Amino acid sequence: MTMLEPCQTSYDLAARRAEFPILHQQVHGRPLVYLDNAATSQKPQAVIDCLQHYYSQDNANVHRGVHCLSERATAAYEAARDRVRAFIHADRREEIVFVRGTTEAINLVAQSYLRPRLQPDDEILISTLEHHSNIVPWQILCRQTGARLRVIEISDAGEIDQASFQRLLGPRTKLLAVGHVSNALGTINPVAEMIEQAHTQGVPVLVDGAQAVPHLAVDVQQLDADFYAFSGHKVYGPTGIGVLYAKQALLEAMEPYQGGGDMISKVTFEHTDYNQLPYRFEAGTPNIAGAIGLAAALDYVDAIGLAAIAAHEQQLLEYGSDALQRVPGLRLIGTARQKAGILSFVMEQAHPHDISTVLDQFGVAIRAGHHCTMPLMQRLGLPATARASLALYNGPDDIDALVAGLQQVCRLFGDR
Ligand code: PLP
Repeated sequence: MTMLEPCQTSYDLAARRAEFPILHQQVHGRPLVYLDNAATSQKPQAVIDCLQHYYSQDNANVHRGVHCLSERATAAYEAARDRVRAFIHADRREEIVFVRGTTEAINLVAQSYLRPRLQPDDEILISTLEHHSNIVPWQILCRQTGARLRVIEISDAGEIDQASFQRLLGPRTKLLAVGHVSNALGTINPVAEMIEQAHTQGVPVLVDGAQAVPHLAVDVQQLDADFYAFSGHKVYGPTGIGVLYAKQALLEAMEPYQGGGDMISKVTFEHTDYNQLPYRFEAGTPNIAGAIGLAAALDYVDAIGLAAIAAHEQQLLEYGSDALQRVPGLRLIGTARQKAGILSFVMEQAHPHDISTVLDQFGVAIRAGHHCTMPLMQRLGLPATARASLALYNGPDDIDALVAGLQQVCRLFGDR
């Protein structure tokens, strides 16, 4: 097989790569090729510096102290909230709740918003594409309330079946919870249209944006999303920090998710008055450094521009799809018309775990498994896929290294 010509682009890939120190190392004697970005992305020096600065200069608890460090930490933490608000184009800072990640955001909505509003036989609507984080919290809720989980079908290409959506959306539906971009297949779902349709029936919508925020410009007001969740660590920020965006009117009508410090305005043994938004939903000491680091990551992404990142990644996705399809015995899984950042595949010759073990020996990091989408794998009739997932620092040379590793898989495992 001949290597493809690197794609032509004005994107300054070398400059981008230089900003990520972790990429400049060898793994098993080969230059690291990191293609596991859907699991977590690497951090630019700007984020690392920001965390180092925070812990070496400003570290203190927020909101409670009157001393200088606490005021600095509070100012930086609240500035991070403003940064997130601007990044996703929310209307108000009160609508930005810092959480641990997408998982916690969805659990918060399940327990604080939906649980008190559900009756037995009410329905929660999700799609076949969902990550376990957007399945299991609803199942727990169904067990607690007697409500039912309904699942929108998908096509073999991995696109949401709109006819199935129309059929299932009905008077019993109390929430639509849908991923913006599939972590297993890369499908970009038409969430704006789905939100519009759900709203015609008075159904609120939660969008799981974990895989969208690193790749697409998100405007929660334009989408008219009621809830939008994402994780900092997938958008070049720290682990342990994420965001729940929720429309203010919804947050105002919700009970707190957890009780503790900071979420109160007055406590007696008889009664507690809760704090104003968004603090009512941030019980306990938050991940202060995480929020500040996330803001640095969003600054970093904005300085490059999501349009430039998306164009670069889209070009790379096409290059990668072409290159992979030339590997003997390889089948791409997930061929939706609109995709972002994911190349999922299986090979006749080898199990995905064997593929990723061989690739690791070449310094190429990909993921193999069910990608926390077991029901999707069942629908596709597969136990697992191998998945290469892209970030702004990947280039055609990374795809070439992946393909070279896959050729080695072909040699090692031969015809089956
Ligand atoms: N939703 C999707 C689509 C994801 O890809 C992930 C993580 O892989 C999650 C939710 C969960 O994110 P986290 O583990 O950061 O809470």
